[in-house]
Amino acid sequence: MEAHLADFIRDTPEGREAEAILRACVHCGFCTATCPTYQLLGDELDGPRGRIYLIKRVLEGETPSAITAQHLDRCPTCRACETTCPSGVRYARLADIGRAVVARQVPRPWRARLRGAGIRWLFTHPWRLRLMLALLRPLRPLLPAQFAEKLPVRQHLLLQPAVHHPRQVLLLEGCVQAIATPATNASLTRVLDRLGCGTEFIAGCCGALAWHSGAQEEGQKRMRRLITRVEGGLRAGAEAFVVSASGCAAMIGEYPDIFRHQPVWAERAQRMAAALRDPSELIAPAIEHWDGVGKAKRIAFHAPCTLQHALHRAAAVETILTRAGYVLTPVPEAHLCCGSAGSYSLTQPEIAAALRTRKLAALASGGPTVIATANVGCELHLAARASVPVCHWLELLEPANSLP
Ligand code: SF4
Ligand code: SF4
Repeated sequence: MEAHLADFIRDTPEGREAEAILRACVHCGFCTATCPTYQLLGDELDGPRGRIYLIKRVLEGETPSAITAQHLDRCPTCRACETTCPSGVRYARLADIGRAVVARQVPRPWRARLRGAGIRWLFTHPWRLRLMLALLRPLRPLLPAQFAEKLPVRQHLLLQPAVHHPRQVLLLEGCVQAIATPATNASLTRVLDRLGCGTEFIAGCCGALAWHSGAQEEGQKRMRRLITRVEGGLRAGAEAFVVSASGCAAMIGEYPDIFRHQPVWAERAQRMAAALRDPSELIAPAIEHWDGVGKAKRIAFHAPCTLQHALHRAAAVETILTRAGYVLTPVPEAHLCCGSAGSYSLTQPEIAAALRTRKLAALASGGPTVIATANVGCELHLAARASVPVCHWLELLEPANSLP
């Protein structure tokens, strides 16, 4: 696609990057077929091709309107379009650049700004979320249903291994996951123990919530802090940096791109991304440890967008679960987003709820007794309305787990 960028951006690093991405798009429209918001809303401007066109016009100098911002906001950045695109268009990167430009020109309504600040204030500081849950959980029966369903159920944790191993990996504690679904990393710690590998927790947030809610400076600050912590652990001898929430892992995988115009940080981000491992990469070579754990239970696997479209590890996880003895039920439209998408379910609640309804119907169609996934956001979003338990797939490797 021809693009003639305006003076304000043409000779900047972002401008050059955006222009290259725009040129790769041949406007074929294949991507619209797998776009969840286009499927739901049926408007070309709520699909990838339309959004690319909107961003192009803004970068060429057209003044964006509140409607432009709305079409971009409605995109959960699921990246299904990237998987489908035959020309390799890096839509998510273009969307980041376009959104930053639009955010500078279209002032957000005060409600949206307040909501964004509230989300960042609450969810990126684990102690605040812990305090809120401690106060609200006892009041659950008194709360409006729409609010009560969002409160995660308290998870009961099994004992942690006490053995020290010479092999060590770093494990991201995360912000929301550490408080809302601590069973995930507790399970992973025991799984790694079985592989003869100790874990050192790295506290902190990957920056995704801030980055994707328009606070890119704040997001980068969190990213730099995390890079520094992980570097310390790697220098001390840890062999890898493991991240069990696919949303955080996908964000960390993007650090080299995000810092590509800041030479020192680009190199450090590159080193960290090279040490990043999905749990499936460590488990797959030793899957015989979990032979028969699944006892032929029927489960539906919801591959989060970040796992399938960014990390490309969905098939690896499905293979592990199958080898462990689970029967994976068929899931139609597996490429579609469930509507969670970071803070999307809070900023676009109607679309997120419609996507969840569609996803839960697809997941339930094969009659599973459990839904497994790989990201804290999807787990909580689906669990609020699912008719069967929802868990992280790592919990299913626990022989002693209490799932049906
Ligand atoms: S599939 Fe790729 S090349 Fe075709 S319109 Fe979509 S982004 Fe552009
Ligand atoms: S990222 Fe997802 S929702 Fe956004 S345009 Fe691409 S396919 Fe559609």
